[in-house]
Amino acid sequence: MAAYAAPVADVAFLLGKVFDFDRCMAELPGCEEVDTELAVSVLEEAGKFASGVLEPLNRPGDEEGCRLVDGNVSTPKGMAEAYRAFAEAGWCSLSGDPEYGGQGLPRVFQLMLDEFLCSANLSFSLFPGLSRGAVEAIEHHASPELKAAYLPRMVSGEWTGAMALTEASAGTDLGLLATRAVPNGDDSFAITGTKIFISSGDHDFGGNVIHLVLARLPDAPKGVRGISLFLCPKFLPGPDDGLGDRNPMSVGALEHKMGIHAQPTCVMNYDGATGWLVGEPGRGLNAMFTMMNAERLMVGVQGLGVAEAANQKAAAYARDRLQGNGADGTPGPVAIIAHPDVRKMLLGGRAFIEAARALAVWTALQMDIAARHPDPDTRREADALVALLTPVVKAAFTDFGFETAVAAQQVLGGHGYIREWGMEQFVRDARIAQIYEGTNGVQAMDLVTRKLGLEGGDLVRRFFAIVRADLQAAEPQAGAALVSPVAEALTRLEAATERLAGAAPLEAGAAATDYLRLFALVAFGWMWTRMAAASAAIGVAATPFEKRKTVLARFYVERMLPQTLALAAALAHKSDAVMALHADDL
Ligand SMILES: Cc1cc2nc3c(=O)[nH]c(=O)nc-3n(C[C@H](O)[C@H](O)[C@H](O)COP(=O)(O)OP(=O)(O)OC[C@H]3O[C@@H](n4cnc5c(N)ncnc54)[C@H](O)[C@@H]3O)c2cc1C
Repeated sequence: MAAYAAPVADVAFLLGKVFDFDRCMAELPGCEEVDTELAVSVLEEAGKFASGVLEPLNRPGDEEGCRLVDGNVSTPKGMAEAYRAFAEAGWCSLSGDPEYGGQGLPRVFQLMLDEFLCSANLSFSLFPGLSRGAVEAIEHHASPELKAAYLPRMVSGEWTGAMALTEASAGTDLGLLATRAVPNGDDSFAITGTKIFISSGDHDFGGNVIHLVLARLPDAPKGVRGISLFLCPKFLPGPDDGLGDRNPMSVGALEHKMGIHAQPTCVMNYDGATGWLVGEPGRGLNAMFTMMNAERLMVGVQGLGVAEAANQKAAAYARDRLQGNGADGTPGPVAIIAHPDVRKMLLGGRAFIEAARALAVWTALQMDIAARHPDPDTRREADALVALLTPVVKAAFTDFGFETAVAAQQVLGGHGYIREWGMEQFVRDARIAQIYEGTNGVQAMDLVTRKLGLEGGDLVRRFFAIVRADLQAAEPQAGAALVSPVAEALTRLEAATERLAGAAPLEAGAAATDYLRLFALVAFGWMWTRMAAASAAIGVAATPFEKRKTVLARFYVERMLPQTLALAAALAHKSDAVMALHADDL
């Protein structure tokens, strides 16, 4: 099957034609030299690495999996070499802070690099992804000494990071966690406990593995307010800034799981492991949220990345596979891509993927504005928009991403179910993104119970005003037939939002996942109107690439956006039927 091709042209279209990237960068200190041309040249190289080095390891890595040999993790053949090549080429430090050796490039570059990695090899993508999240938490919350000791080698990728939250009895509810931290009498603590499901908990790439571990101090109150965050390295600091003794923390087992087999998901035992406090005592969850928010966007992009790869493979297969007569009377066998139902499966994936990528780029631009804009109010506003969209990106991209992987598998019929074509791996791999980093149900609750109430409801209203203004601006180019249905869907979303404002927890819980999907469908529609308007604005000079966007926009509005009607109808009901049955009757 054809190799994965990174969608660099699509990113160039978004940056150059839809989001006015060059002007946006010109306003951000430190990014004045950054433009679409630079983005394209960097992302072309990233795409070559993804398809040339990482994709060839994807299937063998899935077959071989990780092993635990004498307490050490052994990753599949080629993984360690690929990781070192990746770090040496500078990909780990792309958006890192120059103060710690990073290249300081914008988030847009990073998010698109992440997408390409996830398309080519989801298991691999978690190594740099988790390290970056750990770097952010350390940057924002750790002491200057810890930053100086750990950040340069984590930013470069020489050392990797892991996040250690989950325990057997503490998953979503981290207030239940039992791992303990006892002061050692110096500035360090002895960490004791067992964590499960720890991604990238260990590996055979060399260097150090830096765990950020949530634990309780001896006098800590119950619940989340009693949780603190600790930095626990696999190797303690040694002489001359080198690696010292092994910290007493070990991999007890590797989890056997449905997908991402080349990613070591570890049971970690901390047996009095030395750790240092990151942030204030009792404020560990707050510090960890810096890492979790970064990871949530990254996990959303995992859904997008897997969907892109699966859709590409399915479309290539559908162009070759001959079955049946054409629906237009063409005598068969015709390529299955001629069948309307097969086309709908592929178009559904495309319409999601390209809108999601646009929304990812828009969100990444807000992150760059939040980090660098000279005006503090503009920074704060952009940061709040990122907070609002984080659960939407995480949950909607991974739900639609999984659905796209399943539809792509369906395009191959029985050949999608057997291992040979690799489609079932996409389905197995994509599934985890709906679960980890806070399940999608929990993301929906975050949106409804926390994010909608931010700024007394003004934040979400401000977001809707941005969308409506963009719809009005797009209409002359994109046309009312395209824009009006999106504007109507936005009205539906606004009405559902008003009804949910201040809703009792039961009502919020019963509505949350439907509401998040409605929100995402409107956001995707918003992105399609912007892309259609940008394509139309090019006029007679538009290439088939740009004209194709208009057709995809129409497909989205005619065939996918109407889901908002059903969701709005479901949301009009109270929780009675959800809660009426006794637990034993479910
Ligand atoms: C492969 C893999 C890798 C992982 N990597 C890491 C990692 O690197 N670090 C780490 O710390 N953890 C990691 N995890 C853990 C992961 O984040 C958790 O599994 C996930 O957050 C859900 O927790 P849980 O499994 O305990 O499910 P539970 O919390 O038991 O949830 C079960 C179900 O109940 C729902 N639910 C629970 N509470 C609520 C609520 N209050 N309101 C509504 N619904 C609720 C959930 O949505 C879910 O559907 C990983 C897990 C896996 C499988």
